[in-house]
Amino acid sequence: MNDALERLRTTFGFSGFRPHQKEIIGAIMDDRDVFAALPTGGGKSLCYQLPALLRDGLTVVVSPLIALMHDQVEGARQYGVPAACVNSSLDARTVSSVYHDVSSGRIRLLYASPERLKVDSFRSALREWGVSLFAIDEAHCISEWGHEFRPDYRLLATLRSDYPGTPIAAFTATATRRVQDDIVKTLGLRAPLIVRGDFDRREIFYRVERKEKVADQILSFVREHRDQPGIVYRSTRKAVDQCAAYLNHRGIAAAAYHAGLSDVERGTNQDLFVRDEIQVIVATIAFGMGIDKSNVRWVVHGDLPRSLEAYYQETGRAGRDGVTAQACLFYGPQDIAGIRYHIDRLQSEQERERATTQLREMLRFADSGQCRRVGLLAHFDQQHGGNCGACDVCAGDVERTDRTTEAQMAMSAVVRTGQRFGAHHIVDVVTGSLTERVERLGHNRLPTFGVSSVHPRGFWLDLIGDLESAGLLRREGPKSGLTVTPAGKLVLFAKERFMAVDRPPRVDGGRAASAGAARRASTGDEGDPMPLRPSQEALFERLRELRRDLARGQGVPPYVIFSDRTLIAMARIRPTTRMALLRVHGIGDVKAERYGDAFLETIVRFVRGDDPGADDAVVDGDGS
Ligand code: ADP
Ligand code: ZN
Repeated sequence: MNDALERLRTTFGFSGFRPHQKEIIGAIMDDRDVFAALPTGGGKSLCYQLPALLRDGLTVVVSPLIALMHDQVEGARQYGVPAACVNSSLDARTVSSVYHDVSSGRIRLLYASPERLKVDSFRSALREWGVSLFAIDEAHCISEWGHEFRPDYRLLATLRSDYPGTPIAAFTATATRRVQDDIVKTLGLRAPLIVRGDFDRREIFYRVERKEKVADQILSFVREHRDQPGIVYRSTRKAVDQCAAYLNHRGIAAAAYHAGLSDVERGTNQDLFVRDEIQVIVATIAFGMGIDKSNVRWVVHGDLPRSLEAYYQETGRAGRDGVTAQACLFYGPQDIAGIRYHIDRLQSEQERERATTQLREMLRFADSGQCRRVGLLAHFDQQHGGNCGACDVCAGDVERTDRTTEAQMAMSAVVRTGQRFGAHHIVDVVTGSLTERVERLGHNRLPTFGVSSVHPRGFWLDLIGDLESAGLLRREGPKSGLTVTPAGKLVLFAKERFMAVDRPPRVDGGRAASAGAARRASTGDEGDPMPLRPSQEALFERLRELRRDLARGQGVPPYVIFSDRTLIAMARIRPTTRMALLRVHGIGDVKAERYGDAFLETIVRFVRGDDPGADDAVVDGDGS
């Protein structure tokens, strides 16, 4: 393992392992199978890239998408890891030159699609080369319980018996038990090391807001995060197109991404985003898995996602470099109606039930007024004590109003109508609407009929939703009536109060504060986040421009050259010598050789004061 640590420093420029990396790499070095569920940004690729360098022979990485493969290869190469891929987009000449490089030992890491492993010529080539490790990326694609099932991943089921002597390491960011069991069973892993990481993404600040005029809300969010790349998720193609156009119209470089566009359009728009040529991509759920972009600074949802799993994975695309990022969800009652409509049209009873459970879990997250992390992590069977300090609830941004009286009115109507009716009928009773059903059942003669004419219908529907997510009202199934729970009775009989969450539209002027928060970053190493000072920001911008120019020159995404974290560390430490540069997070020998001079030159020019922003003394060294 000393070799591993040495390699980690010299090749990757990292000072230590992230949680579980050492354990996983150790097991692979001992020829053991591995199942590892680590969150996005947890550093899964290093877990097989490092062994690929340390072990004799070839490491084969199975990856689901061609686009993803190319970026992974590029990322590895930038560190000086000899990597290549074979897939259907390459012509025969290229493939045969890759084969040649593998057999001569020049390539140590080969990315391939699952289908490729079934191709005879490829199989015999593998036999000839000898495979030292199989790494299965995005392993949840093998499970129908995952959110991205891909039938071709089933082809991997025979890998274990086809290559009895070769360890298999499976990696995923989806960690429900069900998916884990599916992966281990289908791949036939032999007494694997099982690792489940910490799914708490501490760098992400979670916020939920009431949806009013969502286009304007998104626009002002994007304006608050000027120059920071981010993703807007919308639930329909039409909403995506409209939102992208709306942003473009107001001077924000945005493009759309959804299944209705041609492959070419989709590819182009994705590339523009990945390469930092546009700030925003507006997308349906079709977007995401194919991108490794580590410097996504925020993810906005313009509509309520259908499941917490989807929400977690989508927001997880922000902040992969470990730098603070923002997740903001806008939702309103119309979203719930939309999802319910969709659920009612699902074919099988089982699907409908699953979707209903997922919706309820999602609403509990969005409405409960509890620390967002508690709800999110419960999904992964992970406990969280709350009070995270990095969500709107913990930050005290969520206002509450005493709604005890209104809660009592609603629950009393539930009880007096026999706990058999849904929200709409209860609202009819409380607001005194004389519907045909109310009249037929005689509910207009109840004392609670029309008790309140102050609040509109929408208020009562929201309140009932809040009472449900707070566990005061319950519904057994989507079609069954509301009942009052024991906790609900405490409020009904005035033993406890009910404080409802309310979110008034956010006042503008929070701009400076939230932009500052978004630009927090750690020092050279994995330390405490600290905001950049204005002069450091100015240098950071300069370094970002340089990175973009270098990336354009090579036709690669900027983040594969250096991550945001590395640029931030440079902006703070301001190394002016090669030695100092090598001490910066994320800079190993190869990158220092390739880009060192260009970055040093920019830094030196900046600190010499050719730049108005430079007002600090030069700090040469690691600055910590
Ligand atoms: P995942 O595939 O798990 O989403 P990646 O492999 O893309 O995560 O890694 C996310 C980021 O973390 C990358 O920028 C990577 O270079 C960085 N990283 C990985 N391991 C370490 C480490 N030990 N120390 C610091 N940074 C690391
Ligand atoms: Zn919290």
